[in-house]
Amino acid sequence: MVEAQERRHLVLIGNGMAGINTVEQILKLAPGIYRITVFGSEPYPNYNRIQLSYVLEKSKAVEDIILNDRDWYLENGIELYTATTVTHIDTEQKTVKADNGMEVPYDTLIIATGSNPFILPVPGADKEGIVGFRDIADCENMLHAADQYKKAAVIGGGLLGLEAAKGLLKLGMDVTVVHLFEEIMERQLDHTASLMLQAELESQGLKFATGKHTEEFLGDKRVSGIRFSDGTTLDAEFVVMAVGIRPNIALAKESGIAVNKGILVNDYMRTSVPDVYAVGECNEHRGITYGLVAPLFEQGAVLAKHLCGVDTKPYEGSVVSTQLKISGVDVFSAGEFMDAEGLSIVRMHDDWRRIYKKVLLRGGRIVGGVLIGDGKESSRLQQWIRTGTIMTEAIHDAIVGLASVETGNTAAELADEEIVCGCNGVTKKHIMDAINEKGLTTVEEIKVATSASRSCGGCRPVVEQILQYVLGDKYDSAAAKQEAICSCTTLSRDEVVTAIKEKGLITSKEVRYALEWDNPEGCSKCRPALNYYLGMIWPAEHVDEKDSRFVNERMHANIQKDGTFGVVPRMYGGVTTPEDLRLIADIAVKYNVKLVKVTGGQRLDLLGVKKEDLPKIWKDLGMPSGYAYAKALRTVKTCVGSQFCRFGTKDSMGMGIKLEKKFERLDMPAKFKLAVNGCPRNCAESSTKDIGIVGNEGAWEIYVGGNGGIKARLAELLCKVRTDEELLEIVSAFMQYYRETGKYLERTSDWIERMGLESVTEAVVSDLDNRRALAERMEVALAQVKEPWSEILNNSNLRERMFDEISVSTKPN
Ligand SMILES: Cc1cc2nc3c(=O)[nH]c(=O)nc-3n(C[C@H](O)[C@H](O)[C@H](O)COP(=O)(O)OP(=O)(O)OC[C@H]3O[C@@H](n4cnc5c(N)ncnc54)[C@H](O)[C@@H]3O)c2cc1C
Ligand code: SF4
Repeated sequence: MVEAQERRHLVLIGNGMAGINTVEQILKLAPGIYRITVFGSEPYPNYNRIQLSYVLEKSKAVEDIILNDRDWYLENGIELYTATTVTHIDTEQKTVKADNGMEVPYDTLIIATGSNPFILPVPGADKEGIVGFRDIADCENMLHAADQYKKAAVIGGGLLGLEAAKGLLKLGMDVTVVHLFEEIMERQLDHTASLMLQAELESQGLKFATGKHTEEFLGDKRVSGIRFSDGTTLDAEFVVMAVGIRPNIALAKESGIAVNKGILVNDYMRTSVPDVYAVGECNEHRGITYGLVAPLFEQGAVLAKHLCGVDTKPYEGSVVSTQLKISGVDVFSAGEFMDAEGLSIVRMHDDWRRIYKKVLLRGGRIVGGVLIGDGKESSRLQQWIRTGTIMTEAIHDAIVGLASVETGNTAAELADEEIVCGCNGVTKKHIMDAINEKGLTTVEEIKVATSASRSCGGCRPVVEQILQYVLGDKYDSAAAKQEAICSCTTLSRDEVVTAIKEKGLITSKEVRYALEWDNPEGCSKCRPALNYYLGMIWPAEHVDEKDSRFVNERMHANIQKDGTFGVVPRMYGGVTTPEDLRLIADIAVKYNVKLVKVTGGQRLDLLGVKKEDLPKIWKDLGMPSGYAYAKALRTVKTCVGSQFCRFGTKDSMGMGIKLEKKFERLDMPAKFKLAVNGCPRNCAESSTKDIGIVGNEGAWEIYVGGNGGIKARLAELLCKVRTDEELLEIVSAFMQYYRETGKYLERTSDWIERMGLESVTEAVVSDLDNRRALAERMEVALAQVKEPWSEILNNSNLRERMFDEISVSTKPN
C-alpha cells in the first residue's frame, strides 16, 4: 500500500454516472494508488440518473436510486464535497477552486460535468413553470407542479420527453407532447415504428401536437401557454423542455481547455491540457458527443486502465442503442433504422399484438434494428449489430418468429461473449463466471458483483434466466435465498411460506414470533403480505386480519385523493340491466356523487362518496362489491360474442359471466384481470390481461401474463382447449398456481417472467394430476369467500369499528 502522502491526488469534478463509474473502475484495478477527492454540484451522493423517470412516476423514491451512498465514499477514503461547484481550474498551478472558496491541488484531474438541458431560446423561456428534466431537483419541481396544476406540455418527443410526459400523466396531469417533427423519436424510429409508438401512448392518455415549432411562451410571470409558428396556441400551466442536451463545457472553456461541442478528448480521454481528462457527456470524442451511459462507461473503462497503468486498447467510439422506459411499451432501436439503398430489410409487423420488428442488413450483415412491443431480443440484436453478424436462419427465427412461440430460457441460446447488460457492457460469460466463482445465487448479488442490471435495469429478466441456467437444479434452493420480504426479517417469501406450512403457523403474530421478526409488530410491507400467505395456505383456518390490509381493502372502496371514496358495484362480464342502471343513477343523485365514470373494466364507478355514506350506498344498491380496490379478481371484460356479433364464434359474455361469478372475491397476490373474446378480433383486449381468452375456430385460446399498466406486457399463449370444462379447469389451476407461488404484489406479468412460461404450462396444463390438484385446492379456497359489503352491513360491531376507526390516508396502495 502506498503511503497517503506519496499517493497521487486525483480530483474528480462531477459526482455523476460517468465520473463515479471511472472511479469505481480505478478502485477495482489499483486500490490505493490515488488519494481521491470528488466535487459535485448536487446535494446527493452518486445516483442513477437513468431512473429519475421512476422517481417521477413515484414507483421509486430518491433513496432507491442512490448508487453509492455516503458510506461508500468513506469506506474508500474518498473526500466528497456535495453541493459544491468547481468554478475554476488553474491548469498551470494544477489546482481547482470551488464556489465555497476551497482550493484543492491535483496531480490528475477528471472533468465529468455531464450536460445541461437545452432551453429553447424563444421569448418567455425564462418564465416560472418552465423546467428541464435532468436531475432530482427537476423531478421535485415536476412532482410539486403536478400537485398544483393540471395542464402540462412537454416539448420534445424524444426518449427523455416521452418519459417525462408519461411520468406527468401518471401523476394525473393532462399532458401534451409538443414535437417539432411530424414523427416522434424520429432519430431512432422509422415511420411505422414511430406511428405505432404514438398510437400506443395516445391509447394510454398522452396527447400529441406534432409538426409544431414553438415561437413563444405566453403568460405573465408564470407560463400559461405556448404559441407556435403556425399561429396556434396550447394552454399549459407547466412546461418541461426536453429538446436535447448540451455538454457542460463552460468550466473547461474558461480554464483554457480546448472545446468544440464538448471538451475535446483523444482515445484515452485526455484533453488538450496535460493531466486533465474528460469523461462522459461533457466530452467530444472523434466529433461525437454521447447522451447514453453505455458509451460513457466504455470511455470510463479505458480511462481507468490508462490512469492505473494497465494496458488498454484505445476507445474508438460506440454503437448506441435506445430503450424507452416506463412508457408501457417496449421500444428498442440501435444502429441504422431507416430504409435506404443498399440495405435489405427483414420486417415483421403484427397489428393485433402491436409488435413491429425490423432488422437492417448490409451485404447480409446486421447493421441496425428496431423492436416495438416485444424487446426480448434487444440485447442479442445489439450484440449482432455491434459485431456485424451475418444473418442466419436461426437469427431470423429468433427475431421475427412469432412472439407466442418465443418461450423458454433464452439465456441458454446466448453466446458466451454476448453482452447482456448494454449499459455496463457485461457479457453472459462475465455473469456466469461470477456465479460460478463467487457462488452467487441472486440477481442482487450478480448486480453487486458485475454491475449487470445496475443502470437502466432492462436486462434483469435475462440475468435471472442466466442464473437459472447456470444453477440448474440448484436454482430452486437458490430461489429460497432471495430478497427478504421486508426489513423486519432476513427471510425471503419462499422461506416464510415454507416455515408457515412446516410449523403450522396460523396467525401473523405467530409467524413474527416463531420466525423471530426483528420488529414484533411487523411493518406496512410484511403485514398485508403475511395475511395473504396465511389465507392462501390455510383457507379454512386462517381468520382474515383486516387491520393488516391496505386501507382500500379495509374500507372495501377506493380512496380518492380528496379523501372521498369510489364505489364500484359488481357488473358481471360488463353486462347490466335497465333496472340496475336506473337504480345506480338514482343512488348517484341521492348521494350527490361527484362523477359517474365508466371504467376500463366495463362497469360504473361512483366517485366522490363520503366515508359515512358508504354503508348506506351499499345497502341501497343491494349489489355485490366489484372489488375494484382489491388484490383479487377485478373484472372479466367481455365482448358481445356469438350472442350478438356476426363474427362471434363463441359465447364470450356467457363465459365471462361464469368466470367472474366463480372467481370473484378470492384473494390473489396482486390485482387480477380477465377478458373473454368471441373471436380473434379481440375487441375486449385479451392481450393485456392476466388471463385473456379468445374464441377461435370452435376452441378457446388461453393467453396469460398480459399487463396494460406501467410495465406493459403482451399475454402469451398458454394453450388451446376445446371444451368449456377444460377451460374452467385450466383457468382455475393457473390462478391457484399463481396464488401458491406468486410473491405478494407480484403481477402475473412479472411472475411469468420469473417462473418461465414453460414451467407454468407444465404445472397447469400438461401435468394432469397437478392440474386437478390445483383446481381442487382452488375449490377449497373459493368455499371460504364472503361478500364483504353485505357482511359489514349485517355485522354491527364490524360496521362501527370500521367507520369509527379508519383514518384517511392518501398514500397510494
Ligand atoms: C431522465 C433521464 C433518463 C435517462 N435515461 C437513460 C437511459 O434509459 N439509458 C441511458 O443510457 N441513459 C439515460 N439517460 C442519460 C444518462 O443519465 C446520462 O448519459 C449520464 O447520466 C451521463 O453521465 P455524466 O456523468 O456524463 O453526467 P451526469 O450524470 O449528469 O453527472 C454530471 C454531474 O456533474 C455535476 N457538475 C456539473 N458541473 C459541475 C461543477 N462545475 N462542479 C461540480 N459538479 C458539477 C452535475 O451537477 C452532475 O451531478 C437519462 C438521463 C435522464 C436525465
Ligand atoms: S371479438 Fe369478435 S366476437 Fe367479439 S365483438 Fe369483436 S368481432 Fe365480435
